[in-house]
Amino acid sequence: MKVLKFGGSSLGTPERIRGVKEIIKGQSLPCIVVVSAFEGVTDSLLRIAELASRGNSDYKAELDKLIDIHRNFAKALLSDPDDLNNASDHIEVISNELGEIFRGFFLLRESTKHALDQVLAVGERISSLIISLFLDDSILKDSRELIKTEGKPGNSVVDFKATNQLIKAAFEKTNKLTVLPGFIASNHNGDTTTLGRGGSDYTAAIVAAALKAEVLEIWKDVDGFMTADPRKVEKAYTIENLSYSEAMELSHFGAKVIYTPTLRPVFRENIPVLVKNTFNPEGKGTLINNK
Ligand code: ADP
Ligand code: ASP
Ligand code: MG
Repeated sequence: MKVLKFGGSSLGTPERIRGVKEIIKGQSLPCIVVVSAFEGVTDSLLRIAELASRGNSDYKAELDKLIDIHRNFAKALLSDPDDLNNASDHIEVISNELGEIFRGFFLLRESTKHALDQVLAVGERISSLIISLFLDDSILKDSRELIKTEGKPGNSVVDFKATNQLIKAAFEKTNKLTVLPGFIASNHNGDTTTLGRGGSDYTAAIVAAALKAEVLEIWKDVDGFMTADPRKVEKAYTIENLSYSEAMELSHFGAKVIYTPTLRPVFRENIPVLVKNTFNPEGKGTLINNK
């Protein structure tokens, strides 16, 4: 069993998602695929929430634009009319849900952390649905039924005991290609929670650790873990091997290529992590392990 995670930077356009499908098709082991929201969607949701809670009615037009983007992704990717109808129905339901929450923010001139979690979760709920319909023979599971958090909204932590049991039970009898939304979870009351910005990396690591996966592959838009952010440092180059502690240290001190809490669960279970480039799948990437 292998866990592959594709972040927003790998999911910016329908064309990019076709590339992701090729990478998944090329795998020999059974795979669980964790996906983020499409690129920029979580930021847009936050911006719309802010507009609404400031009493700016432009939020409605912004929401319509965001929903249209998802409709267009679905149209571009789903050739089977049943799949397209299925996606469109879900998008409609989610759009109405969001419209009501934002109207609440607009009327009250405020948002709560709890309601914001519900808003932000929408990006991954829609992307995972569209991607699972697009991938042949895959099933979709809802990470909110697998990952349990405790604590206050905006400050919640994973309840690993409950989470590991749920994940193991869910995958005990299946080897089928499964798509999971990253970033989203739920608390013990069943309310939607999130794992923090960039949290889809963490989702993938939690799942890989619970199932003792052979490897966790984190697919990004760069050739691996580099000596610095290549957007800022021209001469940055890829580091081929890192130990867990080196990678955790770099991540704690600001290397934003991996969400900081990600490495802890895989380190505990000694699961190797490969950081790969969706746009250069042949590249070696970075291997993080205990060496
Ligand atoms: P995703 O959203 O797809 O998970 P991110 O945007 O969170 O991906 O992370 C990838 C980005 O991280 C790269 O485009 C790069 O600009 C940035 N980055 C920051 N530090 C590093 C580093 N040390 N090595 C590689 N990329 C880095
Ligand atoms: N979509 C979420 C974010 O942008 C989680 C993730 O992409 O990892 O923060
Ligand atoms: Mg991201």
